[in-house]
Amino acid sequence: MEGSSSDSGQKSKQNSGKTKFQLLLISGLKKEIEAARRLDPEKLASDIDKIGFSCQQCGKCCKRAFGDNRVLVIPREIEIIREYSGLSKLEIAGPLIPDVFESEPGVGEVKGASENGVHGDKEAENPPVNEKFEGISVDTGDALQLPELLEEDIDSEGNIHAFGWMLRRKRNGDCSFLEQGTNRCRIYPVRPMLCRTYPFYMEELKLYTCECEGLGYPISGEESLKLAKDLLSRYLAELEDMLAVYEKFENFEKDGGGLELARENMEKGSFAFIVHDSSGISKISVKVQESD
Ligand code: SF4
Repeated sequence: MEGSSSDSGQKSKQNSGKTKFQLLLISGLKKEIEAARRLDPEKLASDIDKIGFSCQQCGKCCKRAFGDNRVLVIPREIEIIREYSGLSKLEIAGPLIPDVFESEPGVGEVKGASENGVHGDKEAENPPVNEKFEGISVDTGDALQLPELLEEDIDSEGNIHAFGWMLRRKRNGDCSFLEQGTNRCRIYPVRPMLCRTYPFYMEELKLYTCECEGLGYPISGEESLKLAKDLLSRYLAELEDMLAVYEKFENFEKDGGGLELARENMEKGSFAFIVHDSSGISKISVKVQESD
């Protein structure tokens, strides 16, 4: 988390246990939430209409080869996907970390996928879940990049702190719910808000777009209004979730030896992530395995 562990931040801690910088972020978020609640979906729909959009079903937004395809998810979304798919939380999502890192998905069966017209080539695409190990596995090459990249977020015990969750990805970096060959989403009815509203997003009350082949195509008034409403709910849900993360967050101890400890743990074959989210803290064991 930005400002969560800076020296200057630690020196200016207030009575609440939060640094001045964190308190400023919290107050800024509250203001943004208030302003976001007043945004007009009709006006947003008209902006979307001017840009134009029609999904070309290229599947590029789900694939790593075409850019950063991380899908950030909040705890409520993980729960919805969990109920739909029958998968465990850690089969669905892992700690939110930089894009260079590829996690090993271990996603097995998506319960009810065929009933909803979402087909899954389960056996060929997805290795079975290791039932004895309740955590996640990473390749050695990926793990060794982490300490340097996340140095600011390593505590004195060598745990790596992450702030939020992202959908698991396959070894090639594609979303683990993307069906190979057909570009179909295996959890389409419950896909995350980010996927529903792609390639649009809101930041500081303004509408933005990501790169996408579908931009510029005509969109109906009904579709643009639905997209605008979905976008506003996503924007608010993400802001409110972020606010809860900041409010719950407690600064962790750092004594400078954590980085070395994290490296040693990785060399021995395991380490831990501590994920901060709106519902609190989760500690996740990570097994380091040889790269192919
Ligand atoms: S959840 Fe579905 S729509 Fe979203 S990135 Fe994964 S495959 Fe694509």
